[in-house]
Amino acid sequence: MPSSFSCQVLIAGGGIAGLWSLRRLLAAGYNAFLLEQNHIGSGQTLGSQGILHGGVKYGLDGSNRAIADQLRSQPPRWLDSLAGRGELNLSSATITSPCQHLWAADSWLARVGATVGARAMQGEVTKLNPADWPAALRDGGHHGSVYQLEESVLDVRSVCHALADPVKDRILHGAIDDLSIKDGRVTSIQCGDLSISADVFLFTAATGNELASAALGFGPKATQRRPLRMIMARGPLPSLWGHCVAVSPKPVATITSHNSDSGRIWYLGGGVAEDGASLSNADAIANAARTAARILPNLPWHAVQWASWLVDRAEPAADSRLPDGPVLRPATNAAVCWPSKLVYAPALADLTEAFVRSLTSPSGLSSPPPPLPLATMGSYPWESASWLSL
Ligand SMILES: Cc1cc2nc3c(=O)[nH]c(=O)nc-3n(C[C@H](O)[C@H](O)[C@H](O)COP(=O)(O)OP(=O)(O)OC[C@H]3O[C@@H](n4cnc5c(N)ncnc54)[C@H](O)[C@@H]3O)c2cc1C
Repeated sequence: MPSSFSCQVLIAGGGIAGLWSLRRLLAAGYNAFLLEQNHIGSGQTLGSQGILHGGVKYGLDGSNRAIADQLRSQPPRWLDSLAGRGELNLSSATITSPCQHLWAADSWLARVGATVGARAMQGEVTKLNPADWPAALRDGGHHGSVYQLEESVLDVRSVCHALADPVKDRILHGAIDDLSIKDGRVTSIQCGDLSISADVFLFTAATGNELASAALGFGPKATQRRPLRMIMARGPLPSLWGHCVAVSPKPVATITSHNSDSGRIWYLGGGVAEDGASLSNADAIANAARTAARILPNLPWHAVQWASWLVDRAEPAADSRLPDGPVLRPATNAAVCWPSKLVYAPALADLTEAFVRSLTSPSGLSSPPPPLPLATMGSYPWESASWLSL
């Protein structure tokens, strides 16, 4: 039987953007709920590499300065929350590595030395002596230079737990199927048989934002998708977090390490994942395996299994294709939102909270949740991957 429900703020999408905004709005006294169609974090968030980018990677060639500069202010907000003294208490979440490495042939570093040097002056980048290189680079056969970047890497699921668990009765399992709009205002959304009305609607549903964008009249050019085929390697590999750079400042591969029940996982993004987006699973894996054996020839690649995961980065459209920061597109009492990067979730929450405050004051009231099941936590891509040996 059709039913209805009403609240102050309804958020659609339980990735990092929706979760951080939900926590901020609840802390401010709003009667807010979040709807997630699948599992918490199950989109890009749990598929991300968890890097708290401070912009070093984006500033290496002197271009993309806007994003490099804007990113610099983001990690401190996270680190404060992770230390339990920030805008949210995320002290139960885990930092898997406090830093990353950047390794490259000396010929390349000679060209970007000035930029790296500038960041080194600010204490963000340190050139390492070979004795201090991570084992994967020292024993793996890297020849060239190695820098340490002061950028942390997170265990993203522990972050999702830290955000979601204290407010789990506010995070419901259900998909937004349709929007009702009258005189430019969203009056309700349809979730199966349930009609939900709210003073304010926030869409943080990544590719799912395309439905809201179209209904609100933003047009198809408001959103973009940039596909990646992330590569996963499982086997006796030492931990490594960082970027391998060759002839261009774009990393050949960005590698993060993750422990799983079935062994150590290397999760490879960067060039191998961008190239892989237009390749089949088998071809993308073969390409990445060749690259890995070329950059670190002495690692035990014969004992490694491989898998890949195809995903769309769902973003606001950007002329340069790389959005400079978080975006909130308002339409009367609704907004379509993208963090553009995990690390921008707090900055996006600044925008969503300001938008909600411009429309309604916190009621301080809480209401019983809508008649929907609670959403459960999602899994990492490597936990459901199909592995193959080469
Ligand atoms: C492979 C990869 C690696 C990345 N690595 C990094 C990194 O290291 N550092 C960094 O800062 N950023 C990184 N990013 C970017 C970052 O992951 C994303 O910008 C961020 O996670 C987006 O968060 P989100 O909440 O907007 O979207 P998502 O995490 O995709 O969440 C959207 C949610 O909305 C739900 N949904 C969709 N449609 C509906 C609907 N109709 N009704 C209800 N719910 C719906 C989905 O199920 C999903 O859970 C990476 C991205 C990718 C793809």
